[in-house]
Formats: sequence, C-alpha cells, structure tokens
Amino acid sequence: MGPPTLDASVYLDRLARVRSAMDDRGVDVVMLSVGHDLPYLTGYTAMPLERLTMLVVPRGAEATLVIPGLEAARVVEQPGVFELVPWAETQDPTELVADLVGGARTIAVGDQMWARFLVELLHHLPDVAWTRAVDVVGALRMSKDAVEIDALAAAGAAVDRIAGELQRGEIPLVGRTEAEVSAHLGRRIVEEGHQKVNFAIVAAGENAASPHHHAGDRVIRPDEIVLCDFGGTMDGYCSDTTRCVFTGEIAPDVAEAYAVLHAAQAAGVAAATVGTACEDVDRAARAVIDGAGYGEWFIHRTGHGIGLEEHEDPYIVEGNDLPLEAGHAFSIEPGIYLPGRWGMRLEDIAVATDDGPRSLNNSDHDLVSV
Ligand code: ZN
Ligand code: ZN
Ligand code: ZN
Repeated sequence: MGPPTLDASVYLDRLARVRSAMDDRGVDVVMLSVGHDLPYLTGYTAMPLERLTMLVVPRGAEATLVIPGLEAARVVEQPGVFELVPWAETQDPTELVADLVGGARTIAVGDQMWARFLVELLHHLPDVAWTRAVDVVGALRMSKDAVEIDALAAAGAAVDRIAGELQRGEIPLVGRTEAEVSAHLGRRIVEEGHQKVNFAIVAAGENAASPHHHAGDRVIRPDEIVLCDFGGTMDGYCSDTTRCVFTGEIAPDVAEAYAVLHAAQAAGVAAATVGTACEDVDRAARAVIDGAGYGEWFIHRTGHGIGLEEHEDPYIVEGNDLPLEAGHAFSIEPGIYLPGRWGMRLEDIAVATDDGPRSLNNSDHDLVSV
C-alpha cells in the first residue's frame, strides 16, 4: 500500500524536475521498478513480484509503464504522465524494456530494482553505462512539500500518542517479555491509523546497549531502562520515534547520562536550521555527548532522512556537507550505549523550515519512571 494518488499535475511537475536532473547529470533514461521512486513519480506502487514492472523515463520522450498484464487493473492511469504497456505471460518484458531505451548511453536504475532484472537488462544492453536513480530522484524526494510534511506530522502525532501511553504506564512492562511489549506497540501503531508496522524495537536493561536489538523472550524486570523505538507507514509516509522509560526509581548513573542525552538531542534539533550542513547537525549533538565524556559510547550517526522510506536522504552524519533546505525531514536520534549495562536513545523527526527547525514528535522528552 503506497501513498494516496495525487492529481496528475503533481506527477507531471515531479517528472519535469527529474528530467532536468537527468540533464544535469547526463542521464538518458531512468528505470524504476519496486521501490519508492515509482509511486513518487506515478502514484503506482509495484508489488514485489518476480514479474517485471518498470517505469521507463527517457529524457526527451513520454514515460512508459511496462507492467504485468494481470496488474494493469490496479494502475490509476495518469493522462500525460505515462503510457501503460501491459505484457502477456508469454512475452519477454526485459526485451520490451530494452526496446524502449533507444540509443541510450547512460541509464539510471532504482536502488531497489531486483538484481535479476538488471542482470537480464545487462545482456540486452551491453554498451550502456549504468548509474543510480537515487542520484537523480533523491534530491527531489528530500525536499518535502506541504502535503508531504502534513502526512509526516500526522504519522508523528500517532506514534506520540503511543509514547504517551508508555510514559503514563498504560502499556504494562514489568513481567512481560520484550516481544510481548513489541507486539503491543505494533498493534497500537495500526490502531492509531498506520497501514503498516515498520518496526517496534523493545530492549530492556543490558539489551538496550544494542541499538537495533531484536525484541525477544527477555522478561522486563523492575528497576531497569526500557528502550522503545517504533514506527510505521501511514498513507505512504513513515513515523519513527524513540523513548526510554525506567521501571522504578531511576538509577543515578542512568539519570546522569540521560540528562546528557536529552541536551544532545535538543542541541541537534536546534542546529537543524536551513543552510546548516548535515554534518554540523551531527556535530552539534555529538559535541554535547563528547563533552560529558560519553563520546565513545555514541556509536552511530545522529539521524537519517525520512519520508516514503523509513531511511532515506539526507543522512545526518559526519562527511555529509549537504546544506539543509526547507522541507528536508530527518531524525535526530543520539544514543549512549554501555555494553553489558544499559543503553538509551532519544529520537524525534524534525523538519527544516524557513522559520527554524520544527519537531514532528512532541511526547515528553524526559526519562519517565513508570
Ligand atoms: Zn527509530
Ligand atoms: Zn530513526
Ligand atoms: Zn527535550
């Protein structure tokens, strides 16, 4: 299930901008299959099938959507956006696609296109230089318009309601396994309006020191930290938030580190102004944690872009000197992880706007005792 179908003019505008990016980069054709670029440009989400679906976008001609015949009924036709070419079960769709590219010398393919399709295309088009579609479409997708920001905000508000329940002790923890709490969060994510659960990490005590811990049969005990990082997809756009709670009176070492984490997260958000390089946002959060002596325990980047995908450009990481623009949406999620003891992370989605950074997650930032 993808984003809702928009007016054809939106897709025509996006395709025009893709073509201008193709001009800039000397790309003759863009090919998109499974993945998020396809719905972004056409409103159609391809099923992850072994049967080939491919949008072929030449720089100077109309786009064509090559699609398995039995899927054609799901396509909402967009006048002027693309021509629909269904293929029959006995046809070779790769050949159909190869015939559409003419004398193209450089073709950009979607990141998530299945390797088998690309391997088959290599055989049909031996002289083509291949490149990544993310270099052409990614910059566009990074800059969210007002409708997209609204969708991200709605998804963010939905997970905030769940975080509130967690912080008020309305989601029982002690005596349940991490997996049970994870299932509870997943259920709530759907009840709050998401169509899909993307993840619900629940990590108790020492397990929280592993940032992507897989919730298991570890029973949650009194007097420990419980890290919950969860999100889903609502009407095509993703949510992602992390809150930690403590099952009892907060241990002094945990409270001390959490105060640093909270300050670091706030510093990251405050730094996320239009024109600031992504790496400077990372540095702003990291400096607080480094300054307090926890630097070696903050073992990942500060954040990732978010939109149709849970993780997309721009990445908030050292080495990314891309300046933030109004409409860039990304997580600010510093963490401190002490192996064998505990871990903690605090995560909000932020949007850079001309009026300054806007946080799309607004549940309590404190380490709440439950
Ligand atoms: Zn997260
Ligand atoms: Zn995240
Ligand atoms: Zn805060």
